[in-house]
Amino acid sequence: MSAINVIKVGGGDGIDYQQFCEDLSTHRDYVLVHGGSAKLNEVSTKLGHPPRFVTSVSGHQSRFTDRRTMELFNMVYAGHVNKMIVEILQRLGVNAVGLTGLDGRLVEGDQKGSLKILENGRKQVLRCDLSGIIRKVNVGLLQLLLSNGYVPVLTPPAISTEGVAINVDGDRFAAHVAMGLKADTLLLLSNVPGLLQDIGDESSLIPSVSLDQLKAFTTNVALGRMKKKLLGAGEALAGGVSHVILGDARGESPVTEAFAGKGTVIE
Ligand code: ADP
Repeated sequence: MSAINVIKVGGGDGIDYQQFCEDLSTHRDYVLVHGGSAKLNEVSTKLGHPPRFVTSVSGHQSRFTDRRTMELFNMVYAGHVNKMIVEILQRLGVNAVGLTGLDGRLVEGDQKGSLKILENGRKQVLRCDLSGIIRKVNVGLLQLLLSNGYVPVLTPPAISTEGVAINVDGDRFAAHVAMGLKADTLLLLSNVPGLLQDIGDESSLIPSVSLDQLKAFTTNVALGRMKKKLLGAGEALAGGVSHVILGDARGESPVTEAFAGKGTVIE
């Protein structure tokens, strides 16, 4: 099989999935991973179960995922967003197959169980959290699809060893898929041009970050969810992926431009 690339499109506001898929459909040999966070926030608020974001003692932000949140998560990620993307790709002549990490144990991990968080400067433990840490990817299932001409369209949740759906970060999900497939390039596309020096100024793009600088940028420049993208980028590079590019999912040819190096190139 020729070199595979993994492309992750975020779930943030401002992404036109039709436009994105039109550009994507001109490419070959890729696996698509997507998010859905903005839509999940909207739907869960409408259905009376608004999101609860917590900050772990290590400084990372995450969504507290109780059973009801997991039901809503599956509705939005596996239902709404995944099938919307599969439908668009099918209309464009791409034989897309949508799967979550649960299907065929595609992405497996350990459930954390409890979350140690900081709230108002005080440490707290939240129990019954359905989030987890990814341990392995069922590469055989992906290869089965790819070698038969299907384009996998993947989304969290993942599955725990005990068979429980676990919420895992989409960027790190994509990073693990890229490592499993020994991908050449991992594109992490969201609703910003890449890593910005100043989050309020889209012209402050940092065009390249070396592996040595990654830790410092994660601590000093990335805020909130961008930290997870840099963590995912570091994991992927350490796991044998050659290039990671943080790019913009908006615009006319987002995939083509990111492959051409537009955004933040990490290597
Ligand atoms: P997605 O859901 O598309 O994967 P996220 O919302 O998780 O994307 O992450 C992208 C967000 O990260 C941006 O919308 C931005 O608000 C935030 N962010 C935080 N720090 C930075 C930074 N230094 N540069 C760019 N974006 C940043």
